[in-house]
Amino acid sequence: MKQVLIVGNWKSNKTNQQAQEWLDQFQISNHNIIICPPFTLLPQLDWRIKNQKLGIKLGAQDISPFDEGAYTGEINGKQIKEFCEYVIIGHSERRKYFSEDDSKLEKKVAMAKKYGIKVIFCVQGEHDVIPQGVEIVAYEPVFAIGTGTPDTPENANETAKKIKEIIDVPVLYGGSVTSQNVKNFTQMPHIDGVLVGGASLDAYEFASIIEKA
Ligand code: PEP
Repeated sequence: MKQVLIVGNWKSNKTNQQAQEWLDQFQISNHNIIICPPFTLLPQLDWRIKNQKLGIKLGAQDISPFDEGAYTGEINGKQIKEFCEYVIIGHSERRKYFSEDDSKLEKKVAMAKKYGIKVIFCVQGEHDVIPQGVEIVAYEPVFAIGTGTPDTPENANETAKKIKEIIDVPVLYGGSVTSQNVKNFTQMPHIDGVLVGGASLDAYEFASIIEKA
């Protein structure tokens, strides 16, 4: 049986207190799990994961295209590397609300590479530009993100297959994944895991997704 990868993207959600409660409720280990919380939560989550040997990996949701220096408000690769093994780059919300284009995304990937951070690169489909050196691609069609209307497993599988013809890396599906539908995706031959947004905010639902995947 394939070992699927489950990534939780908390987006701009949770305070310190809420993150602690989530960890108290989340009682799963020995799976391939990456949580991507907001930057503010990384130090304390890193501390607890190590302290309690929880076996969860951490990812950042963004990375500065610049190195350390006079870039007010940015979080750079050197800082992220202190806590994270992974970073999400190219999420459609960053492309839409923060005008991130191919050239900026390429700089971000280069910065992640410089600091040895593995990249989970999000695309709309096989036609998006995928920079060299990314470790994981997430196929995330915009119509499926946060809408409750996922892509069909067949189409997601076909898209994952086409992406793998371009770049030979694991491909995740993301978009309205829940514990009810996750298996439909992870049982597909070209889908190696899922990227979960909204449903990862509830520790019990996220644990259920992992158990059913
Ligand atoms: C996402 O934003 O990466 C995502 C997959 O969101 P959701 O699961 O809420 O559709």
